[in-house]
Amino acid sequence: MHREEALEKIAWHYLKKLTREEATELIVQFFKEPLKPSLREKLNITAIIQWETHQPPPDLKPGNPIYRPILIDKMKRPFRGATNEYLAEHLRQVVGIPVDKVEGDLPKWLACPVCGYRTFEVLGDWDTCPVCGWNSDPVQEAMPDDPTGANGVSLNQARKNFAEFGAVSREKLAEIDPDGRKKYPRGA
Ligand SMILES: [Zn+2]
Repeated sequence: MHREEALEKIAWHYLKKLTREEATELIVQFFKEPLKPSLREKLNITAIIQWETHQPPPDLKPGNPIYRPILIDKMKRPFRGATNEYLAEHLRQVVGIPVDKVEGDLPKWLACPVCGYRTFEVLGDWDTCPVCGWNSDPVQEAMPDDPTGANGVSLNQARKNFAEFGAVSREKLAEIDPDGRKKYPRGA
C-alpha cells in the first residue's frame, strides 16, 4: 500500500472517533490558520469563501461534508512524517487493516537539533518536536548556550537533558509522544 493511502485510512479511523465538540474545535482552528495550498485544492469553494472571512459561521455544523478535508488533514498531521514501517504497524495493530507493507517516499523533514529525529517540516517556526519537546526557536538555535527563549533551557542543556531523561526539560516529559522514537526516522 502506498503511504498516501495508508495516511488516508489512518485519518478516517481517527475521524470516526471524533466527538462533535472535538470536530467543531478543529474546524474553528482552521479559520484562524493560514490555508495551505495542498488543503485549498481539496476544499469546496464555500469553505474557502468562509475561510477568507477568518470567522467560523455562527451555525457551524461539523458534520457538513465541506469540512471533511479539513478534519482529514488534521487527523493525518501526527502521522505525515512517520516511517513506512510505523504506518504499516499502526494500520495492523490500531486500525485493524492487515497490510504487508507500506511504500513511498517520506517527506523531506528536518532533524530536530536536540534529539536528531526528523520531526520538523521547517525549523525556526516555533513548532514543537513530538519526540523531545524542543520548541524550534530561531534565536535559541543560533545561540546554543542561551537559555532565554521559548524553551526555558538552552539548546545545549536541552541536548544533555534529552540524553539523561528523554526530554528537553522535566516539564516537557508529559507532552512528548510516547511513540515518537518509533514513529520518526533519524538523521540528516
Ligand atoms: Zn526533538
